Amino acid sequence: MCSCGEAEQDTAHILRDCRNHQVLREEIWPFPESLHNKLYGPVAALQRTTNYISRSGLEV
Ligand SMILES: [Zn+2]
Repeated sequence: MCSCGEAEQDTAHILRDCRNHQVLREEIWPFPESLHNKLYGPVAALQRTTNYISRSGLEV
């Protein structure tokens, strides 16, 4: 279970929905970005994802 208490802590939840990380998510993706691009590139999109996970403090 995710620490937000709302869902399972899976990849899609963390990258797309989790309210615990909403501020960081809006900073890193101030534009719409598909879950597919967040996970599978291009490189600039993957670097954003890496930055997000790193700054979120989550253990991966
Ligand atoms: Zn959550």
